[in-house]
Amino acid sequence: MTTPSNEWTEPLWFDLTGEQKVLLGSLKDFLKAEVAPGARARDKSAKFPIELVSKLGQLGILGMQVPEQYGGAELDTLTTALIIEEIAAVDGSLCLTVASHNSLCTGHILHAGTPLQHKDWLPDLASGKSLGAWGLTEPGSGSDAAALQTRAEDFGDYFLINGSKVFITQGTVAGTYVLIARTDPARQGHHYSDGISAFVVEGSSSGLLRGKPEEKLGLKSSDTTPLSFENLKVPAENLLGNRGQAFKDVMEVLNGGRIGIAAMGIGLGRGALEIAAKYALERQQFGKSISTNQAVSFKIAEMALELEAARLLVAKAAALKDAGRDYSVAASMAKLKGSVAGVQACDYAIQILGGYGYIQDYEVERMWRDARLTRIGEGTDEVQHMIIARDYLKRFQS
Ligand SMILES: Cc1cc2nc3c(=O)[nH]c(=O)nc-3n(C[C@H](O)[C@H](O)[C@H](O)COP(=O)(O)OP(=O)(O)OC[C@H]3O[C@@H](n4cnc5c(N)ncnc54)[C@H](O)[C@@H]3O)c2cc1C
Repeated sequence: MTTPSNEWTEPLWFDLTGEQKVLLGSLKDFLKAEVAPGARARDKSAKFPIELVSKLGQLGILGMQVPEQYGGAELDTLTTALIIEEIAAVDGSLCLTVASHNSLCTGHILHAGTPLQHKDWLPDLASGKSLGAWGLTEPGSGSDAAALQTRAEDFGDYFLINGSKVFITQGTVAGTYVLIARTDPARQGHHYSDGISAFVVEGSSSGLLRGKPEEKLGLKSSDTTPLSFENLKVPAENLLGNRGQAFKDVMEVLNGGRIGIAAMGIGLGRGALEIAAKYALERQQFGKSISTNQAVSFKIAEMALELEAARLLVAKAAALKDAGRDYSVAASMAKLKGSVAGVQACDYAIQILGGYGYIQDYEVERMWRDARLTRIGEGTDEVQHMIIARDYLKRFQS
């Protein structure tokens, strides 16, 4: 069983403030006492842990970047990433709930909402009274998100939304949804991202139909559900950002989310590394500890190295974001490195544990299954490669 220590496993290169120490200390105590013991059972039951999530709200974890005036913890992006890493090291499903709630639904309202929308929506999201979901992906549009077909028709005082979404985290359990829909057909000569708008929608709205939660490879107690909309009536004041111009907000939300998914990959990989390192020291074969074989210890070195490199990319992207600078490529680099390093670390951990690594009691197989999503969600590996390559090549194009 993964039991986080009271100290940071990895030494940080900066001192935590008193406030950060209190928040992270109580989070670690909570993870150790209440999350770690049930992680395996939740992986089996695939039941969404609503009571644990509510408690995270009391700890300030559901409004990490929300301003204090709306009941949030108003944390910087690096502290937020450290928290996400810590939760992932113990329970990937709970981590995805926290990461998506904070960075996608809440993050979009924070980024594009008016002061009145902030006042109306953020307090319940920050306290956990309402969980957030964010609907972008559709059956026909994933990586090519701007090809979405869900339609929002303008009737003056309200919009009517029709269409469908797939793979929506918190799709069943959310009370607040941010939905991305097309208000205007793509205009001649314009990119088809033109004409896309975002809306905040109450979970209780009629016309918001939830499908059957998906059965997944991992992240089993995170809720992933398809949605459909049948004449879903949304008041005009729930339009988030400028009509027809939401795609750039969507990209900004995804950039922020990618820092979180990177931290999630790192956390899962770190959890697996801790288990593998302890196991390698204890396990005896051929009359000695398996850790004395370079084939084993070099894997430990590579896991530690790659995770630390990813952590530094997360720190860079977080620092650029908080400084108000362009961090999109840095976020893509962090996301690609964090997720690949996380999956690789989990895979090596299975190898180091041998047959036991393949058995559920030892947890690293769950971590591998959970980590695998980080290479797909919020932009696949290939999408991150495209972003990084495009940015680099343009320096040399005339
Ligand atoms: C557990 C889970 C939770 C999720 N949560 C949410 C959520 O809360 N909200 C939401 O909106 N979405 C969510 N998603 C959706 C997720 O973001 C998409 O699955 C992802 O963006 C990929 O889209 P796709 O599945 O349609 O794959 P596709 O875009 O069809 O891609 C399939 C493959 O083709 C590759 N590919 C596509 N285009 C190119 C190209 N031009 N060059 C090279 N390779 C390419 C991709 O990299 C991938 O390997 C979730 C998905 C999962 C599995």
